[in-house]
Amino acid sequence: MSPPRDPKEGSLPTGGIAGSAKGADVRRIGLFGGTFDPPQLAHLALARAARDTLQLDELRWIPTGDPWQKTRAITDAAHREAMVELTIADEPGFVLERCELRRSGPSVTLDTVRELQQRDGPARWIWIMGRDQYVNLHTWRGWRELLQRVTLAVAERPGVTAAVDAEVAAHPHTMVPLPPLPISATDIRARVARGESIAGLVTDAVAGYIARHHLYAGSASGH
Ligand code: ATP
Repeated sequence: MSPPRDPKEGSLPTGGIAGSAKGADVRRIGLFGGTFDPPQLAHLALARAARDTLQLDELRWIPTGDPWQKTRAITDAAHREAMVELTIADEPGFVLERCELRRSGPSVTLDTVRELQQRDGPARWIWIMGRDQYVNLHTWRGWRELLQRVTLAVAERPGVTAAVDAEVAAHPHTMVPLPPLPISATDIRARVARGESIAGLVTDAVAGYIARHHLYAGSASGH
């Protein structure tokens, strides 16, 4: 694996389209994709850590429309969108990006990045993810082009021990410092289905939203 960059040095690797925007005044845009079913507090902690340590001008939360790699039924996009809005409300620099929700067909990250880069022009583009996605990246459609277009910023995730694909690992990436947070949306859905509290795992606003809309109550396994 290439040595992780010190996020505090503020200079992400250059090269390819990811590094094509040069100069101190270029915008630094973080992209944070997820199913967000529901958005939970590890998402928020990761996004805050990325925004602050990578000195991002903005961080865009991108709920997936139809996540082609997930096999379970996904909660309606409108609910997931509303919960992300509640999670990021009043957070400086956080923006909800709806492009995947609007697009029909399966959500492919490369299509999203192409669309945003074409729409928004020169910037330093940083894709933020937890290690579970990093070890899976080589299975994503068009991942080689994706790595030319963005710099990866990766956070450790408890319990993820699988090795990173050698070709993926050969690309420079930066690390997002995050304490181990054993929180997952899967566990939250299962807790709700069992009638257990999810306090401290999602924001109070999201917990209220889940209760009001009776989300996850009927999913026996939480999957
Ligand atoms: P699920 O349990 O339904 O698979 P999830 O909790 O992993 O969901 P996602 O919406 O799939 O949530 O994740 C969005 C992003 O947040 C991914 O990059 C994922 O790696 C990262 N992430 C989620 N939870 C954590 C965590 N506890 N620590 C570090 N990264 C996380």
